Amino acid sequence: MDLSHLVTGYNIYMRVGFHVGISGGLPKAVDRAVERGCETIQVFVSNPRGWKHSDILPEDIETFRARCKEEDISPVFVHTIYLINLAAPAPEVWERSLDALVMNMRAAHALGSAAVVTHLGSHGGRGADFGIARVIAALEAAFERCEEPVPVLLETTAGSGNSVGHDFIQLGRIAGAFGEDDRLGICFDTCHAFAAGYELRSEGGLRRTLQELDGEVGLERLKLVHANDSKGDLGSRLDRHEHIGEGKLGMEAFKLMASHPGLGNLPWILETPGMSVEKDRENLRRIRSAAR
Ligand SMILES: [Zn+2]
Ligand SMILES: [Zn+2]
Repeated sequence: MDLSHLVTGYNIYMRVGFHVGISGGLPKAVDRAVERGCETIQVFVSNPRGWKHSDILPEDIETFRARCKEEDISPVFVHTIYLINLAAPAPEVWERSLDALVMNMRAAHALGSAAVVTHLGSHGGRGADFGIARVIAALEAAFERCEEPVPVLLETTAGSGNSVGHDFIQLGRIAGAFGEDDRLGICFDTCHAFAAGYELRSEGGLRRTLQELDGEVGLERLKLVHANDSKGDLGSRLDRHEHIGEGKLGMEAFKLMASHPGLGNLPWILETPGMSVEKDRENLRRIRSAAR
């Protein structure tokens, strides 16, 4: 396995940070990141549970960018709203999802973000082949519509219901449709992959998991890790995040992942259950100790 390409990823050796809230405006997200000791962050650019999107105020964009620079926070990732369904059978839902994705790409570009992270959605019982074709069509349309070359990272999912993107073969088929186009990348969510049935807790298990990912998708597509422990067990298909080291993955799995060149050279964003600033800082400390 040739991993030389990874060293140049974002030219950053495992920067860690949080998904931070934007209530009170985007610049507030930077304050939250600083409070927690983040080197990288992920944000929503609108309410993730609604379709409503209003343009970000130009002064907020300016302040956000200046503050990130001042505090040395990079890369910045934008996560799309939860309602997005790029695999939706219903044309109006699919169109809306496409619109939302393009708006997120434009916002990401304005904010100086490295990439947009998105879930793929659900095929609603029409089958994986249908879902995969829908997702490919949506991404092609989004890349064509968005004037800016903003990368989109497809997040690995836990695989509940009719969701698309929980197995690497599906992700590989989608990525394969984009050939050498480096606007298409993958976000590896540790909780989701484990819940989808990929072993990460032993050296052999992790090696096999990443070999499969490399074979189906190509590790060079991997641009971001969502580092979350899991409440659900291996193959449970349960999307329930847990604090680092307190779930079914445990500290040992994070140590193994952090020392693997395929993952350890990427930025890591935590989405552990929000409790307090102190607990967030504790989660970051655990990840940093795992990386040592
Ligand atoms: Zn996500
Ligand atoms: Zn999740």
